[in-house]
Amino acid sequence: MAADLGPRAMFVAGGTDLFPKLKRRQFEIDTLIGLDFLPRQIHNGSADCTVDAGVTLSAAAHDAHLKQSFAGYAEAAGLVSSPPLRNAGTIGGNLCVDTRCNYYDMTYEWRKAAGFCLKKDGDICLVAPSSPRCWAVSSSDTAPMAIALDGVVTLAGTEGEREVPVAALYRDDGIEYMAKQPSEVVTGLRLQASPDTRSAYVKLRRRGSIDFPIAGAAVVLVLVGDVVSRCRIVLSAVASYPLQAPAAEAFLKGKRFDPDVVRETAELAAKPAKPLDNADLSHFWRKRMVRVVVEQALVQATTNRGVSVVKLAGR
Ligand SMILES: Cc1cc2nc3c(=O)[nH]c(=O)nc-3n(C[C@H](O)[C@H](O)[C@H](O)COP(=O)(O)OP(=O)(O)OC[C@H]3O[C@@H](n4cnc5c(N)ncnc54)[C@H](O)[C@@H]3O)c2cc1C
Ligand code: SF4
Repeated sequence: MAADLGPRAMFVAGGTDLFPKLKRRQFEIDTLIGLDFLPRQIHNGSADCTVDAGVTLSAAAHDAHLKQSFAGYAEAAGLVSSPPLRNAGTIGGNLCVDTRCNYYDMTYEWRKAAGFCLKKDGDICLVAPSSPRCWAVSSSDTAPMAIALDGVVTLAGTEGEREVPVAALYRDDGIEYMAKQPSEVVTGLRLQASPDTRSAYVKLRRRGSIDFPIAGAAVVLVLVGDVVSRCRIVLSAVASYPLQAPAAEAFLKGKRFDPDVVRETAELAAKPAKPLDNADLSHFWRKRMVRVVVEQALVQATTNRGVSVVKLAGR
């Protein structure tokens, strides 16, 4: 159906992102294709875990195996929006959630009064008027964590099924933010971790609930004693896609995990983040806070499995 109907149709899973956007006339469609038939199981393996796309965020956040072996993922799922929305919202929907912008996530009347923008109905970007592209912000909490955990999604389409690393699922574009075919359905997410893997997700938002991230850090560490043998850092809500921090990862690898190293890693990780003035609170402050969330996630990752390697005194 999706392939036949093209842009006039959209998939709907929990509807927690899509329905408010339809009310605000951010999409013009005439057909919704329900994904209620998608399986809703969490399949635990010894070194991996496959989460069906129809699993709700609440179920993922409370699953004992995910909490034990993929703690950062369970944390990220448990920090999305609010409890009622997590009961309806799915992990597939969270991977595909639309990018956000203060000038776009508004009522039709507000957007009309502002003259619309590139992402919908207009021809300039109101945040960066000289830019030819849209800078709407990737706002999924679980996508950065799935990338950090080497996640792989299964996509089902007219050509059959294929597997794609979550890292390859996104584009650096606020409008065409997904690299999959529009008619492909995400049917599952496979996460991988060794027994020594520790992970954590730290999210920055105005309130303790409901709000989308305005910055966030997904961290995966493998420690041998107190030496880091592997590290992944992926940032949320500071670009149009989940932003990886390869320079920080390379710096931390092989180093002893101590406060100075943690601080320097966090500074390196924050460098590629260039938030614009299109999300909540000041973008200058959000930029400064990226270092802080990375630092907190690095420390939290070491404690998520009952091991406390370092304490950042006075922070
Ligand atoms: C007040 C409020 C606060 C929110 N806060 C957050 C937040 O803090 N963090 C956050 O990450 N999200 C937040 N959200 C957005 C949303 O609730 C979540 O992202 C949720 O996980 C979306 O899942 P869903 O199943 O409801 O997706 P839907 O709303 O059904 O769909 C979302 C998008 O994904 C597509 N889609 C859904 N499932 C699939 C699939 N399996 N394959 C292909 N395409 C698919 C749909 O076509 C649509 O484009 C918030 C929403 C609201 C209303
Ligand atoms: S970044 Fe620019 S084009 Fe994109 S939604 Fe915001 S104002 Fe519109």
